[in-house]
Amino acid sequence: MFKKIDPKTPLPKMEEEILKFWNENKIFEKSLENRKDAKKYSFYDGPPFATGMPHYGHIVGSAMKDTVPRYWTMRGYYVERKWGWDCHGLPIENIVEKELGSNAKKDIEKIGVEKFNDLCRSKVLQYVEDWKKVINRLGRWADMENGYKTMDFSYMESVWWVFKQLWDKGLIYESYRSMHICPRCETTLSQSEVAEGYQTIKDLSATVKFELSEEKGTYVLAWTTTPWTLIGNVALAVGKDIDYVYVETTLTDEKGELKDEIYVIAKDRLAQVMGDRKYQIVREIKGSDLAGKSYAPMFSYYQEKDLKNKENGWKIYTADFVTTQDGTGIVHIAPAFGEDDMELGKKMQLPFVQHVGMDGIIKEEATDFFGLNVKPVGNHQATDIEIIKYLSRNNVLFSKEKYEHSYPHCWRCETPLLNYATSSWFVDVLKIKARALETAKKISWTPAHIKEGRFGKWMEGARDWSISRQRFWASVIPIWKCDKCGEMKVFGEVAELEKISGQKITDLHKHIVDGVTFKCGKTCLPAG
Ligand SMILES: [Zn+2]
Ligand SMILES: [Zn+2]
Repeated sequence: MFKKIDPKTPLPKMEEEILKFWNENKIFEKSLENRKDAKKYSFYDGPPFATGMPHYGHIVGSAMKDTVPRYWTMRGYYVERKWGWDCHGLPIENIVEKELGSNAKKDIEKIGVEKFNDLCRSKVLQYVEDWKKVINRLGRWADMENGYKTMDFSYMESVWWVFKQLWDKGLIYESYRSMHICPRCETTLSQSEVAEGYQTIKDLSATVKFELSEEKGTYVLAWTTTPWTLIGNVALAVGKDIDYVYVETTLTDEKGELKDEIYVIAKDRLAQVMGDRKYQIVREIKGSDLAGKSYAPMFSYYQEKDLKNKENGWKIYTADFVTTQDGTGIVHIAPAFGEDDMELGKKMQLPFVQHVGMDGIIKEEATDFFGLNVKPVGNHQATDIEIIKYLSRNNVLFSKEKYEHSYPHCWRCETPLLNYATSSWFVDVLKIKARALETAKKISWTPAHIKEGRFGKWMEGARDWSISRQRFWASVIPIWKCDKCGEMKVFGEVAELEKISGQKITDLHKHIVDGVTFKCGKTCLPAG
């Protein structure tokens, strides 16, 4: 049945002959044609970006994506294998930005979104021919000649359709919350994007002194790994049932004179925080006894400002998330720069101080630090060092330590990400999670441990999915919001938008769609 093979024939040469035979005789096409009326086996393939050359990761994936469809084909099924190209998003935007020498979002706005998008479109498929060569040489069967592109009109319209389905089911909402943003790309990222970019870096942590307003000379100590967020501090959090101590210590001040200071620290953290300093416990209390005490703000920039909820600011609150695992057992709260902080801020109606723009630059009201990038690429401690120097000069620095930790970076441009309160659109995953978990039980996995392991854990931990990016070359979210009354209209198909706007629409990218307006369904004037 088999041809006899000369053992000296080089294997690659044999492969090339087989490929030639397949291609010349259109064997893949025939394998489909022959089974056209057979039962279907659906194969879904996540499309790769054509902005880079295929690498070994793609090759491993491709081997599996070829084996399974072949198996079902041999079992007599019709297995369509349509190729696709992921054309949108940060990968191509970053390439075009590099070519343009752009370093920030405002550079793109200067160039113009239309020109920028045209450049993205013209460059996104530059490695297609290389991909075709590699996929063919692997022996993978896929219809690459009729592949779809995520920038195609029809594809983008299908994204609108999906969005509308979710919208109609009440699974889409907009929310202002703590997210990870890339300050260079000036956009929010999804959790899976954030998870891709963790790197171990050295940072400077600081233990700082907040002086109690009614007990001069007594300082509450808080530890932070992000000294730059201290300007946004509006509260301190303690654990209700955690034991805290007042300790007295004598130190030499800047004039060389001895003076006593009292520190408030969690009892469990005393040894670590005080190190070899001499001290004496003068009082023991519970966290709940500290709650409500006011302290002096570390920075004065926002004291004169007309802040909402100012009366609730710069006080001690109790919170469930406080532990004595690290730090001082007292947590510095900056609602603009952390998830727990934001939650506590909402719950306790704390003032909100966001001294940093979405571009990572400190705003002008923080006069001493205006213009500094809080986490500069290549020198990410630079601003923290400036803050620490300031604290030291003002006698509110207790100690500083080098600190190594795993920190998220932008998966495209490697800029350190910031935890930042901003607004984003979400899919309400929590609403459908119970059903999704139930349905996931029916999925069979190879290897089997992934079902309960990596995938199962991911599903259990799934949270609402941030789907909006504040960028340019991508599918747009098909919501039109009235400038006047806030009424929203969502489109699942382009024909409906054409009808309502009276405009012919042939491209669904931002630079076109932003210009499509129509009258609000309510009694308002033209909507935006
Ligand atoms: Zn980035
Ligand atoms: Zn309106």
